[in-house]
Amino acid sequence: MTRERLYLFDTTLRDGAQMNGVDFTLHDKLTIAKLLDDLGVDYIEGGYPGANPTDTELFGAERKFDATFTAFGMTRRPGRSTSNDPGLATLLDARADAICFVAKSWDYHVRVALETTNEENLASIRDSVTAARQKGREVLIDCEHFFDGYKANPDYALACAKAAYQAGARWVVLCDTNGGTLPHEIERIVGDVVREVPGDHVGIHAHNDTEQAVANSLAAVRAGARQIQGTLNGLGERCGNANLVSIIPTLKLKPEFAERFEIAISDAKLKTLAHASHMIDEMLNRAPNRHAPYVGESAFATKAGIHASAIAKDPATYEHVTPDLVGNERKILVSDQAGRSNVLSELERIGLSVDRNDARVTRLLDEVKEREAAGYAYEAAGASFELLARRVLGRVPDYFSVEKFDVSVEQRLNAVGQHVTVSMAVVKVRVGDEDLISAAEGIGPVNALDVALRKDLGKYQKYIGGLELTDYRVRILNGGTEAVTRVLIESQDETGERWTTVGVSPNIIDASFQALMDSIVYKLVKSAAPA
Ligand SMILES: [Zn+2]
Repeated sequence: MTRERLYLFDTTLRDGAQMNGVDFTLHDKLTIAKLLDDLGVDYIEGGYPGANPTDTELFGAERKFDATFTAFGMTRRPGRSTSNDPGLATLLDARADAICFVAKSWDYHVRVALETTNEENLASIRDSVTAARQKGREVLIDCEHFFDGYKANPDYALACAKAAYQAGARWVVLCDTNGGTLPHEIERIVGDVVREVPGDHVGIHAHNDTEQAVANSLAAVRAGARQIQGTLNGLGERCGNANLVSIIPTLKLKPEFAERFEIAISDAKLKTLAHASHMIDEMLNRAPNRHAPYVGESAFATKAGIHASAIAKDPATYEHVTPDLVGNERKILVSDQAGRSNVLSELERIGLSVDRNDARVTRLLDEVKEREAAGYAYEAAGASFELLARRVLGRVPDYFSVEKFDVSVEQRLNAVGQHVTVSMAVVKVRVGDEDLISAAEGIGPVNALDVALRKDLGKYQKYIGGLELTDYRVRILNGGTEAVTRVLIESQDETGERWTTVGVSPNIIDASFQALMDSIVYKLVKSAAPA
């Protein structure tokens, strides 16, 4: 059976870069373009050459992509000729394989924003397409506000789309610029358009303002559109653009689409999707969304014990697709609801094989329940769970012990009479027969303690050199008779691996100390440091 080709157009570097708080450097843009090209999208929209220095440099930069590298810009200005429009000239001269013009398709915008006539706007579309074609570029026309325009004046919106197609545009892209259109409206309107412009020349560009950008994109495909525009992780202005990270696996794995359509992303590349998604977050210096469909850490995580035992029998029972297809993994959360099967699956995942009837499993389960009742959160602190499990199973060496520590916080006046707060920590550690004393100052007491603790661990120092703390979260829990503090610490090592540890105590320093200790010991275990 031959399947129809569906094309993916990524606009992370153009529309995605419009998002609040997103500011890509030239290096970022080149790295993301490479990531997209490796993933296998058909088109990469780089940005507006001539509009800002970064984009101008990007189009000037040496690059070699399989994807069609696309420049974005305006059609010729009303009342000018194509040969007398500097903005258009820059766009036509940009080193790009394709040009995507944004054009008005809502008569209201033509009148109010462009301050021109409907006929002049159509002429501008035709002339711009022709000029770009003469330069040997593939041409796309983004019909801005198409759906709102179609609702107000269907004949004119259609006339814009047809003008672009008849002048030779490869793609007429219907944009839901304000993002307020609903899936059933998209399906109906795209259905009307493809009677005038062949569907294999029609694209959809959806925004997420009603959280339906993905649904709208799929609705457009059902109605006949054959190009989808979107961004990685749904980056984009306001509520974002259609999220390609959700669209791609849906097209690949859901039979309704997979049986009818073919996309350029191979099965092998699909397995790199979670990684690509996390890389983008890494570049934006933000924590990945744990609950992101397909690629989030929780996307295939199950909590209740009854589900875990069914999953152990057959994973398909509680999963809509197999996690490794998108580069994710199944995760059974260890929590106070956990049954024996949760703990057993988790032990298997971390590579601790133990007989399911082993008495130590019962002991571990009891310990987890007891500690979770006291405030520990093993579901969020996998490394602390692993250490606890290894201790119950008798497999964690006593690398070192902390004999005592002292943390002080002092507020005083400095030389120029300002109040300053200074934190200091002194730690006495015993490694083998050796006592080691370290002191350190820090931004706060926990930081001072952390620095002092990791300053000198004798023969183990070489294993923790690359260790750093990447996140520190504190929560006050009001359970039982008194409030306790729960501290979660995320650490990272030189290989980029991250892990989370937990500590609980009425005292915040003590809770932090426990989590810090677990983090260091976990790193030593992971590095197979000799006892
Ligand atoms: Zn947009």
